[in-house]
Amino acid sequence: MQTVRKVVILGGGTSGWIAAALLKKVLGATIDIVLVESDSIGTIGVGEATIPPIRLLNSVLGINEAEFLRETKATIKLAIKFDNWRVPGEGYFHTFGAPGKSLAFCQFHHLWNRARQLGDTTSLWEYDLNYLCARDGKFAPITAKDTILELPYAFHFDAGLYAQYLRKLSEQWGVQRIEGLVNDVMQHPNGDIKNLVLDGGREVSGDLFIDCSGFRGLLIQQKLGAGYDDWSHWLPCDRAVAVPSERFDKTLPYTRAIAHSAGWQWRIPLQHRNGNGLVYSSAHYTEQQAADLLLGNLDSKALADPKFIQFKTGRRRKQWHRNVVSVGLSSGFLEPLESTSIHLIQSAVVRLLQLFPHQGIVSSQVAEYNRQSQLEFEQIRDFIILHYHVNQRTDSQFWRDMQQMTVPDSLQRKIQIFADNGSLFREQNDLFLESSWLQVMMGQGIMPKDYHPIANSFTEQKLKEMLAQFRAIKQEPLSKLPSHDEFLQKVCAQ
Ligand SMILES: Cc1cc2nc3c(=O)[nH]c(=O)nc-3n(C[C@H](O)[C@H](O)[C@H](O)COP(=O)(O)OP(=O)(O)OC[C@H]3O[C@@H](n4cnc5c(N)ncnc54)[C@H](O)[C@@H]3O)c2cc1C
Repeated sequence: MQTVRKVVILGGGTSGWIAAALLKKVLGATIDIVLVESDSIGTIGVGEATIPPIRLLNSVLGINEAEFLRETKATIKLAIKFDNWRVPGEGYFHTFGAPGKSLAFCQFHHLWNRARQLGDTTSLWEYDLNYLCARDGKFAPITAKDTILELPYAFHFDAGLYAQYLRKLSEQWGVQRIEGLVNDVMQHPNGDIKNLVLDGGREVSGDLFIDCSGFRGLLIQQKLGAGYDDWSHWLPCDRAVAVPSERFDKTLPYTRAIAHSAGWQWRIPLQHRNGNGLVYSSAHYTEQQAADLLLGNLDSKALADPKFIQFKTGRRRKQWHRNVVSVGLSSGFLEPLESTSIHLIQSAVVRLLQLFPHQGIVSSQVAEYNRQSQLEFEQIRDFIILHYHVNQRTDSQFWRDMQQMTVPDSLQRKIQIFADNGSLFREQNDLFLESSWLQVMMGQGIMPKDYHPIANSFTEQKLKEMLAQFRAIKQEPLSKLPSHDEFLQKVCAQ
């Protein structure tokens, strides 16, 4: 067994620099890290919306949040607003918060559902502080003793600036960066990767290689043929077209995901511009139609020509194979509907850290890494399919096909249990909490037929009082919070 002393990262996109920064920060002088990237190839250049665990990553890296907001032109993200997903003309929020407060053995929505069946007309979202702040465009971090007043948040940022920021930190900590195009890869007789050969003949050898080379998967696929599970029969969108546009006067603290007849459009507000894109099915739109649809639905003037990206939804069958771990786009791709790709990078590197093969690569560790990665990808896949499958749109064949497709058993089971009596269970570290499943199931139109019997243990009057009290508690901080723009101005002026 070869001890792992030198790690070579191929690729300097978001995945390469997150891997470099986190590994170096945590493992320090116990490993040497070399990162190879080629300016002539460049990065994918999209990926601007995140989810709350990124704050943990930043904190482990010792990043000051105010500095981070300034350096990456970031804004706050409290939620995603889904427009036209259930039916055209309607929208709902998937927030990072949770409605009300759950009792032991009885989640809040059961109380709400009983009240609704008794004639209450309040929406579930009125009990969610993230929703209220997103709706009113308000934000400041809240340090609440009681979980009922937590305000979980993430960021929208310029991914290129984030990678540059992490590069600066990584180089300060001792990561060596080599600019160069890899045009050959040498293997040991046993098949492991031995070294990368750069343009001009320079060789870069290592014990462990992290493939962050993007969709091409230069090491994991082109060299080692690790295989790919294709999920496009469930998620048929296979193209995106992206374009930046001018910033608005008012910066929304949430992402927008607007469904069209065969795909959906994102709107991501940054400090200096908006990120926009259309994810679509090439079986339904030509490139020209997609570009016209996107450009025709911008809220502000486009700042560049549209950029087209092709992808195949799925996951690398062995995300760790031999002495190569694939991270980022080389490890698989799920469309950015729930902004999960950067999180998948973070969790892959954390998993690698937990199973780090310092004494040499052991098959049990590789198998465990791959088992956990597979489960994580599949759980996120199911959550994304939910948005497409449970719709009531009748205006296009695309959406009708989505309704009729057979979904994975794991998802079908979840939908059925929720539809029957509102039960939701978070399984095996699922990234999405019960409140996420709840909001999307309800937002897409599933109303549970029944509720938990604990909700019947209160008198009707008591139930009404409890709900009114929850609403008042959640409303209370709103008047004291600054607007999202005021918050950003204050932080960025510091
Ligand atoms: C349309 C779209 C929208 C997205 N939106 C989001 C989002 O909102 N939120 C989110 O979390 N994620 C999003 N993502 C995903 C996100 O963009 C990626 O997860 C992230 O940027 C990581 O990319 P990467 O670093 O793996 O690959 P890339 O950015 O493609 O980087 C690849 C690197 O490998 C290098 N390289 C490749 N070949 C060679 C070679 N032969 N020699 C030397 N260097 C080489 C390149 O120079 C580059 O540095 C989106 C993705 C797409 C396609």
